[in-house]
Amino acid sequence: MHKPYRGRFAPSPTGDLHLGSLLSAVASYLQARQHKGQWLIRIEDIDPPREIHGSAAGIVKDLQALGMQADEAVSYQSHNTATYLQAVTSLLTSGKAFRCSCSRKQLKNHPVYPGSCRKLQTDTCAVRLRVATPQLTVIDQLQKTREYALAKDIGDFIIWRADDLPAYQLAVVVDDAAMSITEVVRGCDLQDSTPRQLYLQECLGLPQPDYLHIPLLTDKNGRKLSKRDNDDPLNQLQPLAAIRLALQLLGQHPPSEISDLNRLWGWAIAHWRVNNIPSRLATDYIP
Ligand code: GLU
Repeated sequence: MHKPYRGRFAPSPTGDLHLGSLLSAVASYLQARQHKGQWLIRIEDIDPPREIHGSAAGIVKDLQALGMQADEAVSYQSHNTATYLQAVTSLLTSGKAFRCSCSRKQLKNHPVYPGSCRKLQTDTCAVRLRVATPQLTVIDQLQKTREYALAKDIGDFIIWRADDLPAYQLAVVVDDAAMSITEVVRGCDLQDSTPRQLYLQECLGLPQPDYLHIPLLTDKNGRKLSKRDNDDPLNQLQPLAAIRLALQLLGQHPPSEISDLNRLWGWAIAHWRVNNIPSRLATDYIP
């Protein structure tokens, strides 16, 4: 039997919602709504040094103003540290992960971890996942299927940081499973995280969601739009115009006479076509 569709938008609170992240939010929202599934918001606030005060609340408020309602209360990764710790402990106990005391300086000339701590039993430190699978295939609902030589290209990767914080890869995998996410829709900047996450799911015995990565939004010079851009077009737009622009950038063509946000969403849910998303998303280019 088919599992009910559950999607999510998982912003890190490191700035305001910008046009680039809005595209991931809109695409994940429309996928969920078109599948008559549920859509959830998860704030990925496990990196206090990078967090910007007020950003989480601002993002949640903006999503609401833009007409995207989550089906459950917003969740916060900072509340789940005990669960992440449990996962990392089980991986250490089963020997699938190991403690690593290498400093950045020691690893400076090694693009892939050289395995120095694989046999050590030191304490104070980061934890790495032991990568034992040489090859992994990633199937994407929109991008080409990719083969990763996991051991050669990625190597043993960090799942718990030396500053005693859970690593992004671990937290995402644990939460996607706990929230019963069936499809992850996000930007292509995270495409190379997917093989790590699939491998981690395998090690933890967790179900694997489908993945759909949307192209990154760039400005007219081909530069990725970032949260630090002050000239983000989103700043000047009312909700209706912002959603219309997001839809257009995503290759959907809402009729120009729709002048009401609810009606625009109704149209978008009924007409959403993933395959219309262009391979290039740029602020100066509307297909
Ligand atoms: N928190 C990540 C970001 O804002 C997204 C994580 C994900 O969607 O898996 O870039």
